[in-house]
Amino acid sequence: MEPMELIRLAIQARDFAYVPYSNYLCGAALLAANGEVFLGCNVENAAYSPTNCGERTAFFKAISNGLREFSTIAVMCGARGTEAESFEYAFPCGVCRQVMLEFCDADTFKILTARSEADYISRTLAELMPERWPTSPMFEAQDGRTLN
Ligand SMILES: [Zn+2]
Repeated sequence: MEPMELIRLAIQARDFAYVPYSNYLCGAALLAANGEVFLGCNVENAAYSPTNCGERTAFFKAISNGLREFSTIAVMCGARGTEAESFEYAFPCGVCRQVMLEFCDADTFKILTARSEADYISRTLAELMPERWPTSPMFEAQDGRTLN
């Protein structure tokens, strides 16, 4: 799948964001290794801490559908009413990066943060998390479990 196509899906997912408190809409499109795409948006809550980012929404949808291998996520965020041309690049927050690390190869998993279909930055997860909390293979080595 071409980056522009995945970004286009993230833009569509952004329309479903539930953001009555921040008015900051985020959409994400997660490409699984098998070619399936899972969309996510941010979902806010009056108590704040239950709020979920668009990236994690996409991941949890995919994981709850039985998928464990992913190649790319596209992210598109911006304040409600803002023209897309003035969007900033929105990189995933630290919590989302840690969730990605649980399921993705940091050296190959790509994160596309977009201002438009054609204007985006591509980074690997390793670039966004150069010093990482241990990944699941470390835990497998300690107790012999397979986490996938
Ligand atoms: Zn996040």
